[in-house]
Amino acid sequence: MDYSRDSFFNSFQKIDFVGFDLDHTLIHYKIQELGKLVFDCLKRYVVEIRSFNKDLLQVEYDPEICVKGNLCDISKGNLIKIDNDNKVRRAFHGVNKQLSLTEIEQQYNQDKIIEFSGHRTENFLPVFSYFELGMGSLFIVMVDFFDEKKDQTCKNYAEIAKLVLDAMDYIFNDWNRGYYYPTITNNLDKYIKKSPKIRKLLEKMKENGKGLFLITNSLPEYSNYLLSFSIGSDWEKLFQIVVFFARKPSFYDSKAQFEIISQNEKSMKLMFGNYNEFKKLLFNSTPNKKEFKTCYFGDHLIGDIKECKAKTDWNTVAIIEELKPNSNDLLESPKWGSFSFCDSSKETKEEKKKTFWQQFADTHSDYYVYSLEEFYDQYCEFLSKK
Ligand SMILES: [Mg+2]
Repeated sequence: MDYSRDSFFNSFQKIDFVGFDLDHTLIHYKIQELGKLVFDCLKRYVVEIRSFNKDLLQVEYDPEICVKGNLCDISKGNLIKIDNDNKVRRAFHGVNKQLSLTEIEQQYNQDKIIEFSGHRTENFLPVFSYFELGMGSLFIVMVDFFDEKKDQTCKNYAEIAKLVLDAMDYIFNDWNRGYYYPTITNNLDKYIKKSPKIRKLLEKMKENGKGLFLITNSLPEYSNYLLSFSIGSDWEKLFQIVVFFARKPSFYDSKAQFEIISQNEKSMKLMFGNYNEFKKLLFNSTPNKKEFKTCYFGDHLIGDIKECKAKTDWNTVAIIEELKPNSNDLLESPKWGSFSFCDSSKETKEEKKKTFWQQFADTHSDYYVYSLEEFYDQYCEFLSKK
């Protein structure tokens, strides 16, 4: 993070375009409810379509099993938490077996350092967005089924991870299949928090001369449900350009063509596409300006922040809900501790260190807040001092 609050907002005044991610940025989910829904939808796929042991359906979602920032260690069947030196600081094998320091040293060698740079690898599957809490939980529950020889569908932990990823693809990547989309869109009150301040923030930015756009990986039908519920049925008039199913982070350097969904003089709705073409669209919408500055807000530290920062000339603001002070909504886990720090431990005699992901946010974002509501309050305070 490069800026103090005042210097950030001073430079934000010069921004011409503000872009937003959708899920967990403009739209706030009720995280426990979402985790349970994803876990249940994944279980049903694994049992009903891939014939895994039906007893899996009886396992209830427990939000303590897996938290944002964990890594699934695919080769060992562990869930782990790492610090900013890539050292394994806490690990569980299966749901309940916590590894002792000696076991961590045995499994990860003396220095406990793993090779991981943020992206998914052959060995590590990061649980990064809240959509993935159910994925990490199911992986580790299925590790117990495997160890206890309750199911023969998978021959090793890597095959379990592959099956869980297949389930993620099945429930999220097609509007017309699985239980996720019908359940959530028929029960929006149960899963989504309404955020009147976020609409006010968008209006305030427009009043201050900024053009707004939205780039989301979500499907158009789904996004429309969420935005109508949370921002209002006239949400479209707030944005100049909306891109659905953008496939971030490959959006920033792919050559995928845009598909036009609808277009009028004031706004465009598109699908797919790429950053270079997107920039031309922004440029065409500001014929009087030769140069413009852009700032992008998102929660995904890879897709919205690191890759965006590396491959565009945009500033980035990370939304990290875990930074909310005194939150009891699962943001500091009794089992895993905080998102930002690894506890100092009598056992390891190691000092309190930043986690891998906290260091990642510090390195790759220009600024971060715990929500856009908080950003609205800071922005209003800044404007009132002018
Ligand atoms: Mg998001």
